[in-house]
Amino acid sequence: MNIDHLVQILYLVASGLLIFGLKRLGSPKTAPQGNMLGGLGMLFAILAVCIQEANSDESNWVLVGVGIVVGSVIGIIAAQKVQMTGMPQMVALFNGLGGGASAFVAASEFKYDGTDTSAMTMVPLFLSMMIGALTFTGSLIAFGKLQGIVTSKPVSYPLQKTINLVLFLSTVSAGLLMVNDPSATHWFIVLTALSLVLGVLAVIPIGGADMPVVISLLNSYSGIAASATGFVLRNDALIIAGSLVGASGIILTQIMCKAMNRSLANVLFGGFGSDDSGGAAGPAGPQGNYKSAGPEEVAMILDTASLVIIVPGYGMAVAQAQHQVRELDKALQERGAEVLYAIHPVAGRMPGHMNVLLAEADVPYEQLQEMDVINPSFPRADVAIVLGANDVTNPAARTDKASPIYGMPILDVDKARTVMVLKRSMNPGFAGIENELFFKENTLMVFGDAKDSVSKINSALKEL
Ligand code: NDP
Repeated sequence: MNIDHLVQILYLVASGLLIFGLKRLGSPKTAPQGNMLGGLGMLFAILAVCIQEANSDESNWVLVGVGIVVGSVIGIIAAQKVQMTGMPQMVALFNGLGGGASAFVAASEFKYDGTDTSAMTMVPLFLSMMIGALTFTGSLIAFGKLQGIVTSKPVSYPLQKTINLVLFLSTVSAGLLMVNDPSATHWFIVLTALSLVLGVLAVIPIGGADMPVVISLLNSYSGIAASATGFVLRNDALIIAGSLVGASGIILTQIMCKAMNRSLANVLFGGFGSDDSGGAAGPAGPQGNYKSAGPEEVAMILDTASLVIIVPGYGMAVAQAQHQVRELDKALQERGAEVLYAIHPVAGRMPGHMNVLLAEADVPYEQLQEMDVINPSFPRADVAIVLGANDVTNPAARTDKASPIYGMPILDVDKARTVMVLKRSMNPGFAGIENELFFKENTLMVFGDAKDSVSKINSALKEL
């Protein structure tokens, strides 16, 4: 077997592992194994590159080694340090780096390997540069918005959509001119510059609760860019891996749009919560009267409940309250109550956020129910405990046509006999809008850090 065959076999194994890994990621039970398989797939791919490099006349081991060491160190430190609440930012950064890497490869192929100027190479090179560069800057803006470095509200200005359309068409034109005349370096430079600007201008008008969709879309773009790079490099594994990311990213984007009852076009061009979408961005200040309760009162109500539905949200992640919640769940079950968890598809700050946290606290998967399954159960629930969730429970989504979240499917917590909202203040959630749930007759506000409040409720329950 010659080296080329060995490399191809390694790529084939790598691709197989990535595909099976992705399949196993489909369920929380098999996800850890899927993750391992995916990682192993990458290892095989890196091994193949190293073998290829070792047999190349122009091998540059110092650069390859530095790349592997720097990448691994950054990856290990970042993965260990990142808090669960910071995962979306990290995903945004990874998407950006993926897109940036594709753009760099495209640039190096254009500069150093200008021998193959066929359309088969130049078209993917154009796509790799355009999509890679716009994913890079777009993801950096998304990172900045989620991290609070850049305003998270949609930024709009006159003729925004027209300017973006002109910019998009100009970028594509520069790319086509480059494909037509590969010796014209200036078209390549124009294409790069316009793509970088396009990424920024395409993402700044998006904000509020639409950010998860954008992150997922950028994830898909980074895959498409990688796939195009695979065509440039004639690397089958990269084409397959990029296609997997591109396709799964777009499927997730669709699922999230559906969960928020928004079309992709509306997310990209609608400007969530901006003035022209008719919504009110930013806290309007609490309106009306609300009732608050302390841990002892809460414990007394819970003591007699037969069905309790826990609705976790972003606040549970911030407070890291999942272990205390599991303790409360067990205490209630010991008292004969049925305890279920209602999982909204966009609760928290990333898809599956709540599932991951609850799995960490060993909550049996059977107790977790998706929105469509659990909603009919709220009218028969004695108590709905809204734990650091806000937007995903806002009844305005059902009733208030003027609300920016109107039409987004929500958890029907207000239909429970008693609703307990555990949060620190009357402040709004991610979308920046008032929640009328807090002022309902059957709602009790339990103020405080979620972990602290649940610990106190647990202690109060023990006293009964
Ligand atoms: P929200 O952001 O609507 O609300 C979270 C609430 O948690 C806040 O109102 C806050 O109130 C409370 N909170 C924060 N810290 C604590 C704490 N330590 N203890 C107790 N409460 C706390 O969260 P939801 O999960 O309801 O909704 C998710 C939102 O995020 C949606 O708008 C969604 O579109 C968006 N999003 C979702 C992503 C995803 O993929 N899942 C990604 C990015 C955004 P207070 O400050 O008063 O404590």
